[in-house]
Amino acid sequence: MKFEKGKGSDFYNNLNLEIDRYFKSNNLTKYATPAIYIKGGILLFMYMACYASTYFLPDNLLLLVPIYMIMGLSGVMIVFNLVHDASHGAISRNKTLNNAIKYIGDLVGINTYIWDIRHNIQHHTFTNVLGGDLIIENIPLLRMSPHQPWRRHHAFQVYYSIFLYMFYSFYWMFVIDFRLFFMKEICNLKNLKHPKKEWILLVFFKLVYVTYSIVLPILLTPLTALQVIGLFLVMHAAAGLLLSFIAVLGHFVEGPSFPEAENGIIPKSWSEHELEATIDFAPSSKVINWITGGLNTHVAHHLYPQVCHTHYYAMTPIIEKFCMDNGYPYKKETFSSAIASHFRYLKKLSKKEEQAAGLWFSLARKRVARKTAKRMLTPRTQQANS
Ligand SMILES: [Zn+2]
Repeated sequence: MKFEKGKGSDFYNNLNLEIDRYFKSNNLTKYATPAIYIKGGILLFMYMACYASTYFLPDNLLLLVPIYMIMGLSGVMIVFNLVHDASHGAISRNKTLNNAIKYIGDLVGINTYIWDIRHNIQHHTFTNVLGGDLIIENIPLLRMSPHQPWRRHHAFQVYYSIFLYMFYSFYWMFVIDFRLFFMKEICNLKNLKHPKKEWILLVFFKLVYVTYSIVLPILLTPLTALQVIGLFLVMHAAAGLLLSFIAVLGHFVEGPSFPEAENGIIPKSWSEHELEATIDFAPSSKVINWITGGLNTHVAHHLYPQVCHTHYYAMTPIIEKFCMDNGYPYKKETFSSAIASHFRYLKKLSKKEEQAAGLWFSLARKRVARKTAKRMLTPRTQQANS
């Protein structure tokens, strides 16, 4: 699968000039500003303080419940505010520092080697394209693209989606990470062979995670095994909800496009495809920007993943103005309308007719393409016959 044109479209070249001007005139680099280290410190402190409460407040189960929820939320914020940028090489020009920060992600439960494959390679290249973007198929039982086949249970997906979102971080850490390691083929990546070091790190970090999250609290506090597992699940429910909503609001709402590759070609340049497949939610909210690691300014992230998220807030109005002045489709929603739009989108895809409509459009497109090809071939065929 590939794009009709790589990154060098007129759209991207001209937008790059505007973005470069912003960095030069403000004397900035694309890497992190000091703010990220302060934020990272606060989030890590929050996570560790919540965890330490298990040992200081073991008799106050009712208080531990909200504390574990905050621990879950801070874990997700660590992933989106530090690990995500580090995995894109955006925190520092020093690769060792980026790699070291990535390991924080492994410590809070996710495998960052597989994240590189499924997020950086697949999602950032073939955004919203079924068979290329793994995020579409991340949550089983949900139909997230009009090109996925409709199944009977999808009729109820609006109602059960919220429960699946609550289990998403747990499912990611204990199912997706392992399943992808065993797959020989991930979308367009064939004959995958993972380095032995990564297999060892996978097992090592999962053991570390389970040991400090479950085993140590059972052994070292008066909490029962059932209570510890209950708190662990409460933490994941809060984490799963935040993680899922950040992940779905940038793509799986009304507005972004879900193109199909025709004969392995996506009929756009990569950058125009990213612009059309992505939407911002509450891009002017500094609070949501702080919580989501800039992923509310999702268009800026998809066009410039190697730029640290601390710049997206300032880059977004530049992108919006450039698109408006030049007739490109920049999309944005408020936070509440993005949430409503996500559930309307799920509702739309819960109907069987949407599949029929999707198929009809793709068949109609193929018919037009065949006719055009025939028209283009006819004169040469006639020449050959004469
Ligand atoms: Zn990313």
